[in-house]
Amino acid sequence: MRLDPASSGTVTPDPAALYQAQYAGRPAEGILADAITHDFAGRIALVSSFGAEAAVLLHMVAQVDRATPVLFGDTGMLFPETHAYRDRLIDRLGLTDVRIVRPNPVALETGDPAGTLNAVEPTSCCFLRKVAPMQRATSAFAATITGRKRYQSPTRADMDVVEADARGRLKINPLYGWSTQDLATYMRRNVLPAHPLVARGFASIGCAPCTTAVTAGEDQRAGRWRGSDKTECGIHFENGRIIRTPAN
Ligand code: SF4
Repeated sequence: MRLDPASSGTVTPDPAALYQAQYAGRPAEGILADAITHDFAGRIALVSSFGAEAAVLLHMVAQVDRATPVLFGDTGMLFPETHAYRDRLIDRLGLTDVRIVRPNPVALETGDPAGTLNAVEPTSCCFLRKVAPMQRATSAFAATITGRKRYQSPTRADMDVVEADARGRLKINPLYGWSTQDLATYMRRNVLPAHPLVARGFASIGCAPCTTAVTAGEDQRAGRWRGSDKTECGIHFENGRIIRTPAN
């Protein structure tokens, strides 16, 4: 609950808190069914990188409504295998509204004309190529669905099923409590194809210049921006706290 600033002491419901109470502890499939067909019908999109674990959530969303908008951030630096995998999953799942989110070409020409910004200012590069375009794309929706999970990194360890961003839009994380074993079981049960780079040791897949394979025992995201302190795409505010923007 929060105080309504437009009134004198009137208490109005906080949407994030309301949906958190409604969704917490429920199976991911039920959360998605309610969110897509009822709670945010016509006002919700899935944000997907078509990365190592993306097939699970894409499959679940397709079971509810194959026409759900899917926002795919194409930074211009992705692996060709990711493009091929995206096309394969679109075909396999029958997705009908996958939208390619690209950087603003003018901003790109000004900010990274040689395509080398990632080597000197990766956070600026992420903002230019991913964060800003995705902020524009998601502004058309009241809520987005993400595939983020608590186990992925310490910065995600206390993530809730529902979060609010600085603009008041909700992020719904139906898989927040899932483990790698849960994901593997779901992939197997539904005969979902793996991203081609998984077999080569890539556990988390982002842009080609900033992603390497991991070795046994390493953190799942150890191959992202290896050798630097950077672990996520950027920094912004959520629920009044400074947090790092997920790279997915
Ligand atoms: S992951 Fe690397 S190449 Fe991709 S947007 Fe971020 S810094 Fe740029």
